[in-house]
Amino acid sequence: MKLLTFKGGVHPPYRKELASSKPIEVLPPPSVVKVFLANHGGAPAKLLVKEGDVVKLGQKIGEAAGFISANVHASLAGTVKGVEKILHPIQERPMEAVVIEKSEGVEEWELITPHGDFNRFTPKEVVDIIREAGIVGLGGAMFPTHVKLVPPEGKKVDLLVINGAECEPYLTVDHRLMLEKSAEIVKGVKVLMHALGVTRAIVGIESNKFDAVEKMKAVCRGEPIEVAVLKTKYPQGAEKQLIYALTKRIVPSGGLPLDVGVVVQNVGTCFAVYEAVEHGKPLIERCLTVTGKGVKNTANLVVRIGTLTSTILDHVGGFADNVDRVLFGGPMMGIAVRSLDTPILKGTSGITVLTKEEVKGPPQKSCIRCSRCVEACPMNLQPYLLDLLAKKRLYDQAVEQGLMDCIECGSCSYICPSGIEHVKSIKLAKKVYRALRGGGKK
Ligand code: SF4
Ligand code: SF4
Repeated sequence: MKLLTFKGGVHPPYRKELASSKPIEVLPPPSVVKVFLANHGGAPAKLLVKEGDVVKLGQKIGEAAGFISANVHASLAGTVKGVEKILHPIQERPMEAVVIEKSEGVEEWELITPHGDFNRFTPKEVVDIIREAGIVGLGGAMFPTHVKLVPPEGKKVDLLVINGAECEPYLTVDHRLMLEKSAEIVKGVKVLMHALGVTRAIVGIESNKFDAVEKMKAVCRGEPIEVAVLKTKYPQGAEKQLIYALTKRIVPSGGLPLDVGVVVQNVGTCFAVYEAVEHGKPLIERCLTVTGKGVKNTANLVVRIGTLTSTILDHVGGFADNVDRVLFGGPMMGIAVRSLDTPILKGTSGITVLTKEEVKGPPQKSCIRCSRCVEACPMNLQPYLLDLLAKKRLYDQAVEQGLMDCIECGSCSYICPSGIEHVKSIKLAKKVYRALRGGGKK
């Protein structure tokens, strides 16, 4: 069988076997959650509650503040204890989180109305439900889903791509979702097709999840949804690489999938869309993988948004020996968590705990001009040069060399025999450049 793929990329140790056979289980509701108002890309939500308020499960506690923003809902039925400023794991600065303490007894839901069979609704009504439910991209990007479903004037979408690649090493949550919730995911895909007005969708899955390929193919039989097998190669699930592998369409530099008529959604997002439209459930929980050799037990868990990292780690028996770091996400693109009190976000696809042996790389040396980073870069960039320009603070030159096209996949750092951490200097340079340009993206 010919496997679809892209140019470049790397083959890090995948270590999916640590958690891939663990069925999804539900973490019991914790006694407290801390829900960031910035639980998505764009503007943080506007606070709707105050200390002492009693909230139902799914009640809106933060209202989307602008077009690129998302609603935030109570992930516990209980009492609002206040609003704390906590170090945000992505924004890297203290940001407001609503603290909710769980009430005794059965939790009462506040569901979205109306909801039900999507065929009853117009595309706009479907988008309204998705917006109301606060759904964001659950692959990690956390971009508000409703925004992607309303293409700007003049842009025509003809294809929905569903990302089931899960190329990030260690993580297995999308794999488990496709095995255990395939019918629900496909219903979510059909809802999204209806919202976008497209007649075709492709689900892309890496070849290391062949059981999920078979399962999804069986459920998609008779539907206008194709299941395609992708080569197992990192970063196969990055949007531009996924679109190229499946369609040979090339998203232009600085452009979006919309520019080539495509919208991409993750399988977890499809499940959340199904739950919102069919059952009226706002996004108050998500599935994530707890994995790595640094935890006593691995798991795939349904966890309430805002649950503290420590609560989740306690559930799996805590740390094993020799722990080096705790990451939100996997080892390639994950973000180091500085405190175990950090609450999970809507985009937290996994908690990976790595041991000292797992993070050991080559000692840092000077670049030997071997060009391995250039061969590995899926964006056709010259990572060694970007690293050099970034370190010399020559930001304009770095931008000319494609700095802003870097997808921060870390393939260059992974492959480098000199242990150069290009992605660190590139990320910093992008941040500084944006700040110097007054927050603009380019
Ligand atoms: S892989 Fe490392 S050593 Fe080789 S060219 Fe790139 S930066 Fe230099
Ligand atoms: S330069 Fe950016 S896109 Fe290229 S390999 Fe490095 S991190 Fe990935």
